[in-house]
Amino acid sequence: MNIHPIFDRLVTRQEQERLLNQKGNVLWFTGLSGSGKSTIAEALERQLFNQGYFVKVLDGDNIRSGINKNLGFSLGDRKENIRRIAEVAKLFLDSGAIVLCSFVSPTIEIRDMAREIIGSDDFKEIFVDTPLSICELRDVKGLYKKARAGEIKEFTGIDSPFEAPENPTLILKTENRSVAECVSEAIQLI
Ligand code: ADP
Repeated sequence: MNIHPIFDRLVTRQEQERLLNQKGNVLWFTGLSGSGKSTIAEALERQLFNQGYFVKVLDGDNIRSGINKNLGFSLGDRKENIRRIAEVAKLFLDSGAIVLCSFVSPTIEIRDMAREIIGSDDFKEIFVDTPLSICELRDVKGLYKKARAGEIKEFTGIDSPFEAPENPTLILKTENRSVAECVSEAIQLI
């Protein structure tokens, strides 16, 4: 327990939002590796930034290489990974930021935990719904090839399950669609 809470003295989220002239938000992109989460989040970040918004992308690159570099891919570590990400997203949210989180986050339980930490009013779940066959064809990082060869164990979609969201805020199909089309759909949520 925090025995000396200071929240009542700190600048509030409402004050930050007024300063920034925007409303804080968390867009949580979930989907298979290679489905397009990072590509869409990055393009969306650039577009929002160009329009004058304070926006932050959280993804495997800036999280797993830093705050979560001591974590692996066991179920326990995957949960801890997402718990910390959600807490970081919440801190940005409290500063009025638009936070774009791009993580496979493969199970309903794991995403529910994130939703609970962030708060359901501010948590927008975006399912980047690309068939496994397409993700595997893209194989952006060569990971599917390695997973099929048995060099990577428990790879989501191959030998570890992905549970599609039951009631996402938005479903983005990327097959035969441009990144720009997907971005313009996602931006409607802001
Ligand atoms: P993830 O972050 O989900 O692992 P990436 O964004 O790294 O996926 O890779 C997605 C790949 O799919 C990129 O090479 C991207 O150019 C390609 N792609 C093709 N069409 C789309 C689309 N409509 N939206 C997003 N990515 C797309």
